[in-house]
Amino acid sequence: MASVAIIGAGPVGCLAGLGFAHKGYKVTLYDSRPDPRIIEDQSLRSINLAVSDRGINAMKYIDSEMTGRVLEGIIPMYGRMIHHLDGGQESQKYGLFGEHINSIDRDKLNQCLITELERFNNLNPDNKVEFKFQCKFTTMHVEEDADNVVIEYYDLLKKKQTGIYDFVVGADGCYSRVRSTLMKYIRMNYRQVYIDMCYLELTIPPGPEGSFRIDANHLHIWPRRDFMLIALPNGDGSFTCTFFGPWKLTESLNTKELVEDFFKKHFSDAINLIGLGKIVIAFLNHPKSALMHVTCSSYHYNDKCILIGDSAHSMVPFYGQGMNCGFEDVRVLLELLNKHDQSRKAAFDEYSASRHKDLVSILRLALDNYYEMSTKVQSPRYLFRKKLDNILGRFFPDHWIPLYSMVAFRADIPYSECIRVENRQKKLVKILESTVLTSGLALLVVYLSKKSN
Ligand SMILES: Cc1cc2nc3c(=O)[nH]c(=O)nc-3n(C[C@H](O)[C@H](O)[C@H](O)COP(=O)(O)OP(=O)(O)OC[C@H]3O[C@@H](n4cnc5c(N)ncnc54)[C@H](O)[C@@H]3O)c2cc1C
Repeated sequence: MASVAIIGAGPVGCLAGLGFAHKGYKVTLYDSRPDPRIIEDQSLRSINLAVSDRGINAMKYIDSEMTGRVLEGIIPMYGRMIHHLDGGQESQKYGLFGEHINSIDRDKLNQCLITELERFNNLNPDNKVEFKFQCKFTTMHVEEDADNVVIEYYDLLKKKQTGIYDFVVGADGCYSRVRSTLMKYIRMNYRQVYIDMCYLELTIPPGPEGSFRIDANHLHIWPRRDFMLIALPNGDGSFTCTFFGPWKLTESLNTKELVEDFFKKHFSDAINLIGLGKIVIAFLNHPKSALMHVTCSSYHYNDKCILIGDSAHSMVPFYGQGMNCGFEDVRVLLELLNKHDQSRKAAFDEYSASRHKDLVSILRLALDNYYEMSTKVQSPRYLFRKKLDNILGRFFPDHWIPLYSMVAFRADIPYSECIRVENRQKKLVKILESTVLTSGLALLVVYLSKKSN
């Protein structure tokens, strides 16, 4: 079977490693970082992820028992809990039939996937996955007619090394080095846009005996239009909170007094949960991270190299789909390899041709969802649409599926199809709204004319 170098042992690279290893490929996994199970990330970034059906479906496609082990301890979130300015809370369910997304610590998930790779090695001593931690990929050389790809990397002693493989999978995240090398080989369209928004992490500590101080089964949102705070539960009773706000505003909160006044004005109920002192420390000391949006096309060169995960598409986090989509990439790619009898050229060609429309669709949805989370969730029109979705979706489940349900709970509906269906539903809602309005006006006219007679 062919040999593959997977560059990047983040969640997507690890899942790809498992997927290829299960198919019998000879896998080598490179990462510039140390093994995260030995040296934990010290960056003060502790992102919690929402895993939903697309991600789970992709894991199950590779190994359903492994999925159970990796997802042990995840916390179901059945809806958003909106925290209003006056301190009131309002639950908005995600699904119509009790569906949920799940909170998981990204680092833990990554560590579990690496443990699963090791487990695979123990069970398959003849086809072990090789780990190359602290090895930083720098470039690759690939000739059109050559049988293999030569990669260059720095090993943990910072010595330049080479490796030879049949093909390379780039899973090295949004600043992908594989992607920039691939650009030399193909006419790649590429776009990187920073949005004017940064994020900063805070923590709500557990209550007494590890209890949750706000409802554990919701994703909490404090929507304040230009900025917002969200919180996702952790297994130990704590919540990882993320503040999202424009750079200028966030950087202007640079003294204890300014941070305190800002929180007292906009997030007074969160002060009791996080603690004012901790909030000040976070704003003054924790790293503020940029959010960007990367699209490229195509995603491969011949049968030699292909990009997946954030290296191919980095999206803003507002739909909670970045990693889910990366996991789906792995499933789609492995399915295409099966379909084409492991012919990489045919599978990669079809991947680039067919996957792009779905990737640009979810990137667009992710950008639009900031407005939904920070603003729309409180608007009467949005709440009316949600009610309508609720009624129509329950009575006609085969014909009416709310957009969020399609994206988060229906791995069988491609992202581009979610948008197509939603556009049709939006048109119907408009017709319904204008019919209700016209009938209302007609009734009013009849009533007024009767009164005047
Ligand atoms: C605030 C925030 C919240 C998010 N919330 C969600 C969510 O709720 N749900 C969701 O699905 N997604 C979410 N995401 C997105 C998710 O984190 C990413 O989509 C996911 O981590 C991408 O995985 P990846 O493996 O492709 O890339 P990464 O996780 O970036 O991993 C890339 C790996 O490549 C390695 N690497 C990089 N360069 C090299 C090199 N030159 N040589 C060797 N190794 C290299 C890195 O060390 C890293 O380990 C969120 C993101 C953010 C920022």
